[in-house]
Formats: sequence, C-alpha cells, structure tokens
Amino acid sequence: MPMKNEHPAKGWAAGFGRVSLETPHLNQDSPENHVRVNRKTAARSGLKIKSGYEFYDRGITGSKNVRLPELERAIAAVVDREVEALIVPALDRLSRRGMRHVGEMLDAVEAAGGRIIFGKEGLDSGNPGSRAIIALLAEQARAEAQALSWRLTTWQEGCRLKGKWTGKRPYGYLVVDGRLVHHPDEAPIVRRIVAAFLGGQGCRQIASMLNDESIPSPNTARAEEIRARGRQPKNQPTTWGLSTVSELLRNPVLVGWRQHRGQVVLGPDGQPVSFGDGILEPGERDRILAERDRRTTIVKQSPLTKWIGGTTGEGRPPRYLLAGLATCETCGYSMVGHNRPERGRVVYRCSTFINGYTCKARAHIHSDVADEEVCRQLTARLAAMKRSDPILGTIAERWRQFTMTGDEGERAQLRSSRRAVRDRIVDLEEARYIRGEFAKSDEVARWEQMMERLKAQRDAIEDALHELGPPPDFEIGMLLETHLSRDAWDATPLAQRRELLQVATDRIIIVPAHRQRKLPASERVRLLLAGEDADAESLGAEQRALGRWARTSTR
Ligand SMILES: [Zn+2]
Repeated sequence: MPMKNEHPAKGWAAGFGRVSLETPHLNQDSPENHVRVNRKTAARSGLKIKSGYEFYDRGITGSKNVRLPELERAIAAVVDREVEALIVPALDRLSRRGMRHVGEMLDAVEAAGGRIIFGKEGLDSGNPGSRAIIALLAEQARAEAQALSWRLTTWQEGCRLKGKWTGKRPYGYLVVDGRLVHHPDEAPIVRRIVAAFLGGQGCRQIASMLNDESIPSPNTARAEEIRARGRQPKNQPTTWGLSTVSELLRNPVLVGWRQHRGQVVLGPDGQPVSFGDGILEPGERDRILAERDRRTTIVKQSPLTKWIGGTTGEGRPPRYLLAGLATCETCGYSMVGHNRPERGRVVYRCSTFINGYTCKARAHIHSDVADEEVCRQLTARLAAMKRSDPILGTIAERWRQFTMTGDEGERAQLRSSRRAVRDRIVDLEEARYIRGEFAKSDEVARWEQMMERLKAQRDAIEDALHELGPPPDFEIGMLLETHLSRDAWDATPLAQRRELLQVATDRIIIVPAHRQRKLPASERVRLLLAGEDADAESLGAEQRALGRWARTSTR
C-alpha cells in the first residue's frame, strides 16, 4: 500500500520525442536516438519507462501553434498520474514556442505531482530552482526557431526575386538548378488539358477523360516519386477531379510565373518574374482566364436565396443552342432546354416552371423549329444588310471586344501586368485603410513611397499599352463569310454558335403558341439584332459579350 502523498505510479516514466521534417538532414534526431537517450535519462533518475508509454510526434514543427497529439497524450499520462515523470531528450524537443507553452505544461504536470526531465540539459522540473533555468532555455529555443524561420523566409524571398524555384515541383515541370523545365510526360498532359478546356470541355469532363486513360493525378505522381526515393508518402493516391483540373488551369506556373500569397511574384520592374520555361505563353493564359470568366455566370434566380448573386461553378458546356439565350415573351424569363426522349425531341420552355414563378402563358417551342428559325432570320437579315448598317458596326465592335481579350503577345502581357499592379494597389490601400497595417508616421511614409512606385509602374504600363495603339481593326466581312452565313452556321460548333448569337443579337424572344390559331415559326421567334434593343444596350457591350446578359431577365 503506497504511503500518503506518494505517487501512485512511483518509479515509472513516460518518454516523448519529436522529429520535425523541416530540416531532417540537419539534425541527428531520430526516434531511435530519442528512445535511447530517454531510457538512459530514466535510468540516471532512478526511473523506468513504462511499456506503451513512449510517445512520438513525427514531422510536426515545435515552433508553431499546432497540435502535437502524441505530446498531448504524454502530458495526459502524467496529469492522470499513470506515470510520475515525463522524459524528453532535450528541451527544444518538448517545445520551441517559448516559456508560456513550456510553463503551461509544467503547471499541469506539477499540479498532478509529476515532473518533466530534460535529458540533454540534465534538468528535472521537480528540483527547486530548475524552473527559472527551464524558462530561460525555453525562450532560447524559441529564439532559435524564429531565427531559423527568418533565415528560411529571407532565403525563399531572395530566391523568389531571382526566379529560383524553391519547394515542391509544380505539376508539369521538373526543377533543375532552381529553374523550371518541362516534365517529359506531364507537360504534354498539361497542354492537352488546356486544349480541351479552350475547346469547350468542362473541368469535370477533362478529369474523367484523364482518369479513363489512367493518367496519374498530380498527387499520385508526387506520391510515387516520394516512394521511389524510399520514403513513405503522407498523401494517399488520388484521381483527377474537377478541382485538380481547375486549380491547374488557374495556376500562373503554367507560364512559368510563381504565385505567392495569391499574387503573381513581380520583379522590381513590375513584370512577373520568370521561374523558367513556361508551358504556355502569357497570351494563352489570358485566354484561359477569359474562358473561365465567360463560363462563370452570376446566379440571378434560385430557390436557395444564398446562391443569388454568387457564381455558378465552372459552368457546364451548354447542350442546346438557345438554352438561356431565348426569353419567354410573356414573362421575360429565359427559356431552358428540356429533353423529352419519349417524344424524341427537345423543347425550350419558359424557365418559370423550374423556379416556381408564375407566368400567365409560358412559351414553349420545339428546339429544332426554333434553332432553324433563329438561324434563318439571323443569316438572312445580315446577308441583306449594307456594310454601313449600324447593326453590323455594333456586331463588329462586340466581336472585337469578345475575341481580342485573348490577343496574344505584348498587349496581353501588358494587360496582365496592369492587372497585377492594380491588384497590388488595391491590396496596399486595403492594408492601410481597412486592415490598419500602416499606422505610425514612418509606416505611412513607407506606404506612400510604395504607393508612388506602384502608380509609376502602372503609368508606365499604360503608356506602353497606349504606344501599342488599339487592337487591329476588325473586318466584319470576314466574320459574315466565315461564321454568319447560312452554310458556315451549320458547320460551326454549338458553343461557338452560342457565342455568335450573344454577339449578334440583343434578344431572342419566343412567343407562346395560341390554341385558336397556329402561328408560323417566323412569328413565334423574334430576333432583336445587336443594337436593336435599347434596354439590353444599357447593360454594356462587354457584359453582354461575356454572356451574362442572357441571364438578366426583364419582367
Ligand atoms: Zn414565361
């Protein structure tokens, strides 16, 4: 029977160790070493390590506020009085977070009548006076960790500005001497993904295409590499998914640029820093971004109010020519395509039947009839127009705006630099006026300098853009011949026909059928060509060209 005040687990200790993966090559820490040192320390203190009480945290840093699950269990063993002491190989293995963290652990342990023994330092928290030394050493361990992390940060920053790639290799690339070079197997896959996306495929479709071909996902490829180097990868193998593809397409590394905290890393000249041989040209990336924007539509109506005003994911490629483009004459809402396989046809219906709004006379028309009639009216009317017709001028202008955003070369690069600089200006303004990061007078002075530099950069880019002049004039005759003639129309893919409709028309109105008398198709489909609908014009050409106008229904 133990004496009063005697610890119920007298003579028993738990051991704890920790290896961080930050600098595995720099330290000699290993589970085996820690276990050996802990056992030696236990023996020296007249204790034995209880079986099943050796705890180990692997790959977790001791300097950040993250949970160390095994350390928590080790402390709990002392607090629950399952052992009387916790043995650690060295103070910095217990914590690098300073006296406060160490002190909290000491308090908890002491309250339970336990102690912590530090092997390397030869300290026992149960000895009077040792706490002050532990406090000092705890702060020292913290300072070391901060110095190390500061050195790492400044080193990485220096590398970034010099265009030296540090850290994991991005998908599609190898890193050779800090520079990105194309990965022989992955770079062609990246190109395929980009081509498929620009060709109108959705990210989900692309992902399943890659999975069908058993192409390893970026995660799997990385895990296999780690395994090939004889280490156990942390991540489980995965397949391609919507987000894998969409993240890949969004990443500026496609053109050899690096993203840091959500921004493209810019050099002192305000130009993106190149980290090597990009798989794409900057102009191609611009096309991807424009395509993403185009596919993202604003939700105007939804049974879930929280969706309204948000964006609809990546947008499915549409299946029907007039879905979302045609509107119901009665209520002004857009029409949706509705497949009726039992009748072997697709119909467009006033969308109020989905969202529950009322419409006194819902328009409803067979898609083949409507598609054909739209094509007939559009091509016939355009063909009959004089070249000087203002409608043709409007179409040309919209088409130019719509396609020239993907203009390659210098203009595209300047535009993306301008965007980046503008983002930085906004960020800097937020930093001062919203986040309050520049409060003291010397900070304000620094802020003003930074702002001045950014504005100078922006002006320089604007000047360069101005010098380039406006994009080349667009010849409407070409468009009429290659896309907007009767013959060309049928040969044009669906996605492009929809783009053309959005550029060439303001509204496509479907008149509900009358029971009493049958209306001919030419009266059931009404086309307002570009510039004919004054209401739609006020929305702005760019917005229309992006396809958002079609969702705005006037009631
Ligand atoms: Zn309606």
